Amino acid sequence: MKKLSILGSTGSIGKNTLEVISAHRDRFKVVALAAGNNIEMLEAQIIEFRPDVAAVFDEAAAEELKKKNLPVEILGGQKGMIDVATLDSVDTVVSAISGSAGLVPTHEAIKAGKNIALATKEALVMAGKIIMAEASERGVSIIPVDSEHSAVFQCLDGRDIEEVEKIMLTASGGPFLKRGPDELKNVTPAEALNHPNWDMGRKITIDSATLMNKGLEVIEAYWLFNVPVEKIGVVLHPQSIIHSMVRFIDGSVIAQMSVPDMKGPISYALSYPERLGKVLPTLDLAEIRELTFEEPDVKRFPSLAITYDALRAGGTMPCVLNAANEAAVEAFLDERIPFTDIFRVVSDTMAEHEVSDGETIEEVINVSEWAKEKAKEVIEAVRIH
Ligand code: MG
Repeated sequence: MKKLSILGSTGSIGKNTLEVISAHRDRFKVVALAAGNNIEMLEAQIIEFRPDVAAVFDEAAAEELKKKNLPVEILGGQKGMIDVATLDSVDTVVSAISGSAGLVPTHEAIKAGKNIALATKEALVMAGKIIMAEASERGVSIIPVDSEHSAVFQCLDGRDIEEVEKIMLTASGGPFLKRGPDELKNVTPAEALNHPNWDMGRKITIDSATLMNKGLEVIEAYWLFNVPVEKIGVVLHPQSIIHSMVRFIDGSVIAQMSVPDMKGPISYALSYPERLGKVLPTLDLAEIRELTFEEPDVKRFPSLAITYDALRAGGTMPCVLNAANEAAVEAFLDERIPFTDIFRVVSDTMAEHEVSDGETIEEVINVSEWAKEKAKEVIEAVRIH
């Protein structure tokens, strides 16, 4: 029986994880749950899954939840998140806190020797070098939950990375694949939040619309699979049936396909190296009929170019990209900047950064805070008055 701690249990990945678990209660025990501030949903999850411990990042919300006298120990704040990530009785931590807030608990979990089912890509984008070094030192496995990386992981199937010619991440292209440059300027948050294929959280849905999510995934792949930047490519595939592909040195391409549903990669990360039954609906290719592919348009969506620049600059630059993007997405959702200025805020913030090695988590967090402040200055300069 795998003993799990789920960080980010009330988010989209967290909810899907609990759905997978509830269909396989004989395989998994939920030892701990952690959420940001949604205590109504957390309370329902506590009642259903009976964990030993629950943590709420928001201290006031944690106090509120304690008043309910639930049969569980309730912790609060950053310390509560870390405690839940490092519990002795847990062997696998599902890391699914959205955004940079997930970095520290994930790092602490690895230091405590926990295996990680990783959905929080920001942990690798901000501190990939530190995270992967720590994981290898502790003999901890990091199994990707992100659908593209799960696909690559399944295609590689333990093969030597020397046999890989190219990792090809697929991208749906988001809701604005067909919009011209002028139309893009005027898209609203409501339109951007309406993703054609995947049902996800707000931040990542905007990142999908800008293709910045794919950029972050390129960085994630770089660290997870330890390949040179040149060996990672992106291809648009609007149907989201192929979740990514690997081309090997003999020219053979292996692709992983399924109905687009996060329960697929979540279940694989939880049960690896086995596969669980009854996870996804049957994929009917004859009904889908067509799988299409095209090159991403980096003129309309400069995110990928910006990402490769950040990876080549190395060190703390990807961390700056991530922080500036978080600030820019927030400003777009608040209707303070137009959609197309998200790219400008990120690249202008990066231009102000002097790269350092990023050797410690503290350094990375300081750089991330610096970048958020710098991005806010850039936003003030470009904002809609
Ligand atoms: Mg993804």
